[in-house]
Order: sequence, then C-alpha cells, then structure tokens
Amino acid sequence: MNQTLAIIKPDAMESGKAGKILAHLEAAGFTIQALRLVSLSEAQAAEFYSVHKGKPFYDQLVAFMTSAPVIPVILEAENAVLKLREAIGATDPREAKEGTVRKLYAESKERNAIHASDSDANANTEIAFFFSNYERLGVD
Ligand code: GDP
Repeated sequence: MNQTLAIIKPDAMESGKAGKILAHLEAAGFTIQALRLVSLSEAQAAEFYSVHKGKPFYDQLVAFMTSAPVIPVILEAENAVLKLREAIGATDPREAKEGTVRKLYAESKERNAIHASDSDANANTEIAFFFSNYERLGVD
C-alpha cells in the first residue's frame, strides 16, 4: 500500500460535488487516510503550484485555487499515484476517458475538479505540505 494526495478543487466544492467525488474514489478502491478543509492563501497556492510559475495560466490558477475552500485528502491504495491519475483522467475534461472523475465532474481544463500527485516524490512533498506525521501515520 502507498499514498498519494488529492485535492478537491474550488469548482467541485462550489457545485456540491465533493461528496460524490470522494465516494467515487472509495468505490475505485482508495481508502481515505486523512482529510481536511482549507482555504488556501495566495502564498500557499503559489507555493503549492510553484512548478508552474511563469506559465501563462499560473496567476489564474492561483486565483482559482484561492476562490473557495478545498479538501486535501491522503488516499491509500496499491500503486496509489498511478491508480489515482488513471481514476481522475486527463487535465482537460474533453480529453478525459469516460467514467473518470474529470469526465464526470470537471468544468474545464482549469476548473477540473481535482488535483492528484504525479509521482511518488511529489506525493510525499504534497502530503507534507498539508498534513503532519501525526495525521499521515495515524491509521494502521
Ligand atoms: P494536472 O497534473 O492534470 O492537474 O495538470 P498540470 O500539473 O499540468 O496543471 C496543474 C493545473 O493547472 C491543472 O489541473 C489545471 O487546473 C491548470 N491548468 C493546466 N493547464 C492549463 C491550461 O492550459 N490553461 C488553464 N487555464 N489552466 C491550466
């Protein structure tokens, strides 16, 4: 078993889809290990997405991620990182496969319902961004 980080994004929060998305992920075989509701500051969102700094969509992405509360969640499964990327689908919902979270719930390439870590190294960094060891190690 290993872990990855998802974030339910502001568009899904505002349209009341957070519960459906979490249920979808549980049905897909993930266990929720830790979860919280946070309102990101501009500095926090800018830091979280700093890998995209300088890209044309960066400022808008930071504005979007601070526009409503979000739910970071640690998900556990075999091969969690790859499994979650497959479950959420392509960045642009128009390109996402049928039955994926983004195909079902995303509005657009930016307002795409959910974030998922893209490597084990990034999963560790992103989990540590939102959660303490107390939460990360809490459930046996
Ligand atoms: P992800 O790993 O599938 O989330 O995609 P990326 O890491 O490439 O991008 C991070 C986030 O930035 C995406 O989930 C979108 O919310 C946003 N984003 C990525 N590409 C674009 C784009 O071309 N235009 C806009 N407006 N937003 C984008």
